[in-house]
Amino acid sequence: MLPNALSERVLDCIIVGGGPAGLTAALYLGRFRRHVLLIDAGESRAAWIPVSHNQPSFPGGISGLDLLQRMKQQAERFGTEIRGSLRVDHIQPAESGFLVEFADGSATAKTILLATGVVNHRPDMRIDLHREAVARGLIRYCPICDGFEAMNQKIAVLGADDHGVDEALFLRTYSANITLLCAREIASAKMQRFAEAGIEIVTRPVTSIAIDQTRIVVDVERSTTGFAFDTLYPALGSSSNIELATRMGAAVSDQGCLIVDDHQMTTCAGVYAAGDVVEGLDQISVAAGQAAIAATAIHNRLRSLEGR
Ligand SMILES: Cc1cc2nc3c(=O)[nH]c(=O)nc-3n(C[C@H](O)[C@H](O)[C@H](O)COP(=O)(O)OP(=O)(O)OC[C@H]3O[C@@H](n4cnc5c(N)ncnc54)[C@H](O)[C@@H]3O)c2cc1C
Repeated sequence: MLPNALSERVLDCIIVGGGPAGLTAALYLGRFRRHVLLIDAGESRAAWIPVSHNQPSFPGGISGLDLLQRMKQQAERFGTEIRGSLRVDHIQPAESGFLVEFADGSATAKTILLATGVVNHRPDMRIDLHREAVARGLIRYCPICDGFEAMNQKIAVLGADDHGVDEALFLRTYSANITLLCAREIASAKMQRFAEAGIEIVTRPVTSIAIDQTRIVVDVERSTTGFAFDTLYPALGSSSNIELATRMGAAVSDQGCLIVDDHQMTTCAGVYAAGDVVEGLDQISVAAGQAAIAATAIHNRLRSLEGR
């Protein structure tokens, strides 16, 4: 349960989500001397990152867990209360702002920041195997993040639609040895580009994915030998965690992300959003930038409500 003082007080902001977006907003709002509660279910995509090499100021790279820990420490230093392993179930407008409900209680705040991220659609394989494959770089999810680390490797892209096609072409920047596993026909214009790029295409459904000492092994229908790759990029799409906002009537883009204005406010007044849940490049630096904009807008909105 929340301490009584907190549960009875109307907070300045409740942040939902404790990934890079939520933690950056918490840091800024704490330094704006705002009373903030951050609630996090603990499933940040950043926690999957074995080592990130594109975080400015970490020339030797940093693991996702280490980065999250540092961001959490920094946010807490400026007063944000963080409640982990807790999911927000419902948010609704209330007289004083918004009522936020979770398993063991509720809290109210004048503003809300949603930093709830997205969930990647995973290939059909055992969860523990998938975790190990991601940790070892045998499965990767983000060519922009780690295509560089897959330089000159034998790469597979597992696609279901045009995501896979585009991802395979993008990865040509890094390797000449790319196979697209895609159990559907590909438009002839794209086939022409694939032929020019030297990308191999396998249009038979994948039947199993396994890992060995160094490689990821993919079986497809009507093949006895299977295919072995250095790394596999699933390009199966993702689902944005938008329900808390859509239940309040927030507008959503064609891609299923929350629509925000230049100050990161959704179409619900007082409800802001930042990070992967918003349309844009799903990157930590983008999440942090959007969170800085949102936090500043929230502070200014509160200042205006307070008449100062
Ligand atoms: C394998 C992998 C490698 C990557 N490598 C890089 C990289 O090198 N560089 C880079 O810039 N990006 C990388 N990314 C992308 C990066 O992880 C994301 O862009 C980043 O984590 C987005 O931050 P976020 O705060 O928006 O969302 P997230 O980090 O996903 O955090 C969202 C949080 O909200 C919580 N949440 C959701 N709903 C609720 C709810 N109802 N109540 C409470 N909490 C809730 C979730 O549990 C989660 O903790 C990588 C991603 C993956 C999967």
